[in-house]
Amino acid sequence: MRAWSAPEVPQLREKGPAVALFDTATQAKVTTVPDGPARLYVCGITPYDATHMGHAATYVGFDLLNRAWRNAGHEVVFVENVTDVDDPLLERAAKVSVDWTELAERETELYRQDMQALRVIPPDHLVGAVESIPLAVDLVEKLEETGSIYRVDDDLYFSVTADPAFGHESNLDRETMLELYAERGGDPDRPGKKDPLDCVVWRGPREGEPSWESPLGPGRPGWHIECAAIAREHLGAAFDVQGGGSDLVFPHHEMCAGHAHVADPSAPFAKVYSHAGMVAYDGEKMSKSRGNLVFVSALRNSDVDPMAIRLALLRHHYRSDWEWLDSDLWDAVDTLADWRRALSLGAGAPAGPVVTEVLAAMADDLDAPRAVAAVQGWVDATLGTTGHLADTSDEDASITIHALLDAALGLAL
Ligand code: ZN
Repeated sequence: MRAWSAPEVPQLREKGPAVALFDTATQAKVTTVPDGPARLYVCGITPYDATHMGHAATYVGFDLLNRAWRNAGHEVVFVENVTDVDDPLLERAAKVSVDWTELAERETELYRQDMQALRVIPPDHLVGAVESIPLAVDLVEKLEETGSIYRVDDDLYFSVTADPAFGHESNLDRETMLELYAERGGDPDRPGKKDPLDCVVWRGPREGEPSWESPLGPGRPGWHIECAAIAREHLGAAFDVQGGGSDLVFPHHEMCAGHAHVADPSAPFAKVYSHAGMVAYDGEKMSKSRGNLVFVSALRNSDVDPMAIRLALLRHHYRSDWEWLDSDLWDAVDTLADWRRALSLGAGAPAGPVVTEVLAAMADDLDAPRAVAAVQGWVDATLGTTGHLADTSDEDASITIHALLDAALGLAL
């Protein structure tokens, strides 16, 4: 499907360092070493509701990775999916009496507008679940050849024991896996399964649900096989990073890796599994079921500067869990006013050291709060707000910092 329009990102003269990222599988910071273009897969939305601040934090987080790689001189191939057919979408559509395809199209379009407003660089391939059904079917057939697929009634399941490395991505004990699996849309108690953790890869037809004809019989793909198939198609059997929110550590990313390992045992699938923290609001994780959502589109509709939303997000490290406070937004609005004032002077404090520090911070596990602090230091020195005389010894400072803010942080001021 169509993505959104790409922002024009300035090219910096200074090259950033190699990008290190925390890897959930090894629980260590890993320096990414792209072989050819840097390849990134980010798990996308299920379009049944508008983009909330938790989503925005995740997608802005991986946009920082995209930018850090570009600044380090890499070409980037970025793929993201849209799960435009799945249980939560169908349930929501039924609940509000809207055709599920209409709901999916509407919310996907709103998501595109939100991402564009936040200056997220669009994926090279934004791929829907429905349009990639043939890919999912191919992968299930490939898995069938390995004997890792079995039938329960009209549904096809993947045997997790077929992957000797199963569990390596999440590092969880079996008890925790079972708990999370039940919590996050799995069906550990279904009779007829060989292992409670086995996951559905092809769901047979149900009354009132859409299904597609296929060599596997009529039905629709499971969510995990969808991402595994799309990633393999567009990025190959080994790529640099699979990203998503930390609620995807298990089962989603573990299952994707499981499918891919069994289909192609020689390939690692993602070299790094990277996860963004969860955003809370009113004391609890932002989620549809709790109804405590702050929507990007609602803020945009009340004329909030999207760059202020983006700065408010950047003040939190992408991996940390944090709570959205309405006051964060107004603080960000005030900060941007200061930054714009400093940039309007033309000359300013020396920009060179700020460029080096910001690029280093972003290459070090996307440390946006450290980068924001460096920029703030430059603004304070330029405006003389530290009590010292303003330092305006660099005539081109404004041009350099403008370009830096956009290239590294996605802030176009
Ligand atoms: Zn996914």
